[in-house]
Amino acid sequence: MFVSTLFIKSFPTFADRLNINFIKMKQTILNIIVIFIMALTVFAKEKDGTMNEKAIDKQNMNTSVKPGDNFYEYVNGGWIKTHPIPPEYSQYGAFTILYEDNQEKLRSLIKKVSAEENAPEGSVAQKIRDFYNSGMDTRTIEKLGIKPVQKQLEEINNLKSKEDVASYIATMQRKGMTPLFYFFAEADQRNSTMEIANLYQGGLGLPDVDYYLNEDEASAKLRDEYVDHLTKMFVLKGDKQEQAEKSAKAVMNLETKLAKTSFTRIEQRDPVKNYNKMSLAGLIETAPDFNWSLFFKTLGLEDPGDINVGQVKFFKGVSDLMNETDMETWKAYLTWNLLDASANYLSDDFVKQNFEFYGKTLSGQQEMQPRWKRVLEVVSNGLGEALGQLYVEEYFPASSKERMVTLVNNLRAAFGDRIKQLDWMTGETKEKALEKLASITVKIGYPDKWRDYSKLEIIPGNYFSNVIAAREFSFNRNLNKIGKPVDKTEWGMTPQTVNAYYNPSNNEIVFPAAILQPPFFNPDADDAVNYGAIGVVIGHEMTHGFDDQGRQYDKDGNLNDWWTEEDAKRFKAKTDKLVALYDNYVVLDSLHVNGSLTLGENIADLGGLNISYEAYQKSLNGETPKKIDGFTAAQRFYMGYAQVWRQNIRPKEMARRLKTDVHSPGEARVNIPPFNIDSFIKAFDVKKGDRLFINEDERAYIW
Ligand SMILES: [Zn+2]
Repeated sequence: MFVSTLFIKSFPTFADRLNINFIKMKQTILNIIVIFIMALTVFAKEKDGTMNEKAIDKQNMNTSVKPGDNFYEYVNGGWIKTHPIPPEYSQYGAFTILYEDNQEKLRSLIKKVSAEENAPEGSVAQKIRDFYNSGMDTRTIEKLGIKPVQKQLEEINNLKSKEDVASYIATMQRKGMTPLFYFFAEADQRNSTMEIANLYQGGLGLPDVDYYLNEDEASAKLRDEYVDHLTKMFVLKGDKQEQAEKSAKAVMNLETKLAKTSFTRIEQRDPVKNYNKMSLAGLIETAPDFNWSLFFKTLGLEDPGDINVGQVKFFKGVSDLMNETDMETWKAYLTWNLLDASANYLSDDFVKQNFEFYGKTLSGQQEMQPRWKRVLEVVSNGLGEALGQLYVEEYFPASSKERMVTLVNNLRAAFGDRIKQLDWMTGETKEKALEKLASITVKIGYPDKWRDYSKLEIIPGNYFSNVIAAREFSFNRNLNKIGKPVDKTEWGMTPQTVNAYYNPSNNEIVFPAAILQPPFFNPDADDAVNYGAIGVVIGHEMTHGFDDQGRQYDKDGNLNDWWTEEDAKRFKAKTDKLVALYDNYVVLDSLHVNGSLTLGENIADLGGLNISYEAYQKSLNGETPKKIDGFTAAQRFYMGYAQVWRQNIRPKEMARRLKTDVHSPGEARVNIPPFNIDSFIKAFDVKKGDRLFINEDERAYIW
């Protein structure tokens, strides 16, 4: 639920919205890869044919700007100017380029596997080949049109009672569709060794509660566009215009009621508020008008055992809605959920309409990605570790793992020293913090034990049924965990994911193979730049164990307060300063960063910089490295950090993210945290009067 990632790469199609929501839910974090290959201008081709990236390239900078006025522009201005967003993207940055590169690598792996015509039935090669080829077989897909969902449309049409609705929602959940709410297994937040059932709010087609409730003009316009999209989807399904309009309005109405009873994103950040463990009897008492017994029975779980009800208020609301809502509305809502979750795997008319709204209208994407990329993403989700295994065999050198282990050890030692020296924390809490730091598990590259896909059946020539098979496989695998011990060796991201995460209930930091590449990790770069990039990423993830959410978990991953009251109070006062700094940062016209929504990530960025800089200093053993290309080591450290976050982003996408993403925009990630740190201020001679200068009493010193 509270897994913290380094960033979220989001593309708002159904699968992606699922991923974004599920990023909160550790067991189902799927990688989200959407890529485009263009000239990798940051790479210089060496004579021997190997690709080396220059650690810091002056071409990428804009030295006409003062670092103190806009550090982000100073380091990245040149790059930003020369890297316009390709039409198929809503944003384009360092992460995107790695994705693109990865996508090509994965495609060549799939091609290699696909060439094995005699791959034995049931082998991983057969599954990857047939899944991918079925997705590329547009002739069959077009011929089938809406047929793949016809049976389910009829089933929905035949529902007669609210009992039928509850039961059918379970049927849809089994297929990876998520009307009304999410259901999944996850570690009990107060007993982190056991998996329990979880219910979590959901059921909205727009990205967030705000979209339904805000009264500004832009929000109202988006709502109209959403209803228009719903109408068009119903027409594609075969409804007459008038009926389609009626259904669309009914869905909008129901979703608005759901939104009103939902937690906001900020409320969702409080792990205690979102932990409400109860028995099935307790759930029935809390939300009596949804037939839970029937729901669980349909899932094949006669006795789910303990259930964590994430948002009690929401599930009470769902219960009320069961009574208030007529059958026609339920049918329209479930039909919409079915179409939305299926559109990308049906004929082109559905794919296009889906893109019109979720790609263009919501995120400002101009063009759809080529088919092979979209299909590759689906295969990479469905058979993630199977493809991941091939990926690391081909592309992940053992030496990278060794270097990471050393770096992580150095960072951990530096973080420990900093905790010991904190002037705001008492000895008692420090001791517990140090214990927690020492207990952090580190996972690098790929899992020790690969996922077994033998029970997933993939057949040639039926893309839609393969997608559903992969979802059912994933759902059942998760469902089977309920009531069993947590497998702490499991990974929540595939090795081919360009990202990293901290999982509080395992107290672990995880770095997939794909992030261990330039500009994050550059074997040819000087240490200063690597500490500024991957070093800060490591420090960022470690700090998540001590951010406003993570600090509420103990060394064993249990939600269990280990802070003295006064230390907690001082921590809160410090984080309030950070909230204010981000609240005041204007990104787009009048749009500000939301300092409360992004607090955990901002604490992690600031901590990551402090810890990594200290680790780097220690690694120097008192020596001062020579300047490189005219820059001191301290300067290169912060520049290495800044270039990780370079990006171009479309205004619509920026607006969407400011509402929904717990990460601050790249620009704010560069232009705020360093300005709280003495070594940065000194390295770039930042002075009062510079635009980004922060008065000493307003600076945040936390970790
Ligand atoms: Zn993070």
